[in-house]
Amino acid sequence: MSLINTLNSTKILLLNHNSMLFIASLYLSLVFSTNETPKEPNCARNIRAITISLLGAPASSKGTIARLLDGTQFSIGEALRREIQLGDPVAIEAEPFMKRGVLVPEKHRAHVVKLFFRSLKPDAVLVLDGIPRKPDEIGKMNATLGEVGRKIDIAFYFRASKETCLLRIIHRWTCPTCQRTYHAINRRSRYKDVCEHCEYSFLMRRKDDTPEGFETRWNVFVQETGQVLFELGHRGILFTIDAEKSVHEILDEVIRTVESRTGVRLKILDAATQLPE
Ligand SMILES: [Zn+2]
Repeated sequence: MSLINTLNSTKILLLNHNSMLFIASLYLSLVFSTNETPKEPNCARNIRAITISLLGAPASSKGTIARLLDGTQFSIGEALRREIQLGDPVAIEAEPFMKRGVLVPEKHRAHVVKLFFRSLKPDAVLVLDGIPRKPDEIGKMNATLGEVGRKIDIAFYFRASKETCLLRIIHRWTCPTCQRTYHAINRRSRYKDVCEHCEYSFLMRRKDDTPEGFETRWNVFVQETGQVLFELGHRGILFTIDAEKSVHEILDEVIRTVESRTGVRLKILDAATQLPE
């Protein structure tokens, strides 16, 4: 409103229609330019300590990409499963929600986020897998990240069709130790039933990797995430990735986009170089 006030005070009110349109577009461009990715000086923050958010439907490859990047990966589901194994009483309360494939209540989500951030290395690339899930979580997550000098710097939407995601889910096998996933047809473990990364860990089917479980999770995703994508897009930090492509191509695009937008060249883990073409 300050621009309009200034114009009023200088009595430039008798403008013709075209001039008014020009001023309106100038005003809008000023407003929206502030929503672009902030151009902060690199000296203000540790250049490596960026935070990336990967969003998409179940089996849209976001978890796979998160695990191939050399950084600290965080997903609410995995954090909850880990805390349940460790016997954390609050996480154990969330187990029935997870089994039903519905969104775990805010109280339990906030609990594991806090536990996790306490152990976060200050200079790590942080990869948020499937977070934020709800529009009001953007502010809450940024507030929690702000306590350790971070914010969500860049976000990706992994766009894939429902059919593609369902096919991935019904053929998916997961390592319960490292959470790496394999595909019974396209991406089998070299050691058959055993994870390639964890020598003695037998692959399992996740309890909610069923067509019914997928349907529930897909519907939750559609209902919850649309508003999040809109909000992040409005802030100018969201990029859409064609997640029907191969893991190699997706990984490449994520790395190129992060580098061009933040100046940070992400490193990948050795496992990424062993992926089938
Ligand atoms: Zn493993």
